[in-house]
Amino acid sequence: MASLARSMRPLARVAVNASSRTPTVRTPFTRSVPAARCLSTTPQRRNADVVDLDSLEPTPIFHLNEVEAAMADSVSRFANEVILPKVRDMDEAEKMDPAVVEQCFEQGLMSVEIPEKYGGAGMNFTSAIVGIEELAKVDPSVSVMVDVHNTLVVTAILKYGTEESKKKWLPRLATETVGSFCLSEPVSGSDAFALKTKAEKTADGYKINGSKMWITNSMEAGFFIVFANLYPEKGYKGITAFIVDKENPGLSIAKKEKKLGIKASSTCVLNFDECEIPKGNLLGKEGDGYKYAIGLLNEGRIGIAAQMTGLAIGSFENAAKYVWNDRKQFGMLVGEFQGMQHQLAQAWTEITAARALVYNAARKKEAGQDFVIDAAMAKLYASQVANRVSGQAIEWMGGMGFVREGLAEKYWRDSKIGQIYEGTSNIQLTTIAKLLQKEYTQ
Ligand SMILES: Cc1cc2nc3c(=O)[nH]c(=O)nc-3n(C[C@H](O)[C@H](O)[C@H](O)COP(=O)(O)OP(=O)(O)OC[C@H]3O[C@@H](n4cnc5c(N)ncnc54)[C@H](O)[C@@H]3O)c2cc1C
Repeated sequence: MASLARSMRPLARVAVNASSRTPTVRTPFTRSVPAARCLSTTPQRRNADVVDLDSLEPTPIFHLNEVEAAMADSVSRFANEVILPKVRDMDEAEKMDPAVVEQCFEQGLMSVEIPEKYGGAGMNFTSAIVGIEELAKVDPSVSVMVDVHNTLVVTAILKYGTEESKKKWLPRLATETVGSFCLSEPVSGSDAFALKTKAEKTADGYKINGSKMWITNSMEAGFFIVFANLYPEKGYKGITAFIVDKENPGLSIAKKEKKLGIKASSTCVLNFDECEIPKGNLLGKEGDGYKYAIGLLNEGRIGIAAQMTGLAIGSFENAAKYVWNDRKQFGMLVGEFQGMQHQLAQAWTEITAARALVYNAARKKEAGQDFVIDAAMAKLYASQVANRVSGQAIEWMGGMGFVREGLAEKYWRDSKIGQIYEGTSNIQLTTIAKLLQKEYTQ
């Protein structure tokens, strides 16, 4: 399997011909083909794309352009051929196989939206969403590693980094360095801006003191975006974002959590003890960190929602194959009993509804429209559906669903986190209600 992975070329690279602006998709599985142009990340180009889209016939919400479709196909094959054989072992060992991390870089999965000039794949946001979803069908742990790296960390540098910091960090993030996003603390989870980690100015830059908790990717990461309060007297308006290199003295990765699910994804406590960083490691503007965190998490939630729909589909398919092909009771396949069929039909309907919310939120974000309520609804509903469907899938498979021989029980354990990280379900409901109230208040 390892040799197969080595023989795979990066999943998809999009080359845009500047004169014709016609992209070409190259994947290990397809010849170069002209592709539908994906939405751009720069405002000028994005506006042009939106105008172009207006002239198109309405398309189904799940329609993917050729680049995105190639991404889905390639990631699915990578996940099934390379990751799947390792999933159970990684879960039992509670550790991501370093070869998987390396292969995610080789496949271009860690650089989806990084422009080609910085060594990335130069693709659009929906391509990242497609990749996250496909990975989660097989392993939600690998999926969240890729998700956090792309939707939170890379996006933070793309949106708020200076040209100098983009040149310095993006090529590393595209090829070898996993990123991590450090907001939560022992005292501040849902109330994120009550964080206590402090930053102060020094002659050469800044010094950070404090602790972060439940930080995804921390064992694999070489690059941490850290939120600390530079001006505590200003309350949350003092919160500032910094870049901290793993090798930076004063940063230590402390306790690694033992968890219910997504066990192969590392979640650790991080300590900052007189952690001095240079001036150039300030991300964006001093005091704007809270705005960045809100904006990034709004986008990130679409990624978690995609992780949850992928998980729901993975658990559904795993069980559907069993009940409709393998398991017979009372002389017939158990999936032929009407009581079972109705449950499967209901579950698939809910999965499809959740996916529609996810793709709608992603497309609205890409089109530059307000997507905050859409992202919150997608994350809320997709995580509920993932938990419900993966739980039912265990019942559909009976004893075979409960034992650790297969993956049914793992999907269910992995689903629970969807209702917690990047804003709990209650926090999503609060966001949705606030926006609705604003709209309906006269
Ligand atoms: C596996 C894992 C990975 C994580 N990865 C990261 C990461 O990479 N980076 C990072 O910064 N953080 C990360 N987190 C932290 C995560 O974002 C928080 O756990 C989450 O935001 C919830 O915060 P909390 O755990 O402190 O729960 P609390 O905030 O203590 O909430 C407890 C309960 O109270 C409810 N509650 C709280 N406030 C309200 C309210 N106003 N209205 C109604 N109900 C409310 C919540 O919904 C919840 O049910 C991770 C957590 C886990 C478990």
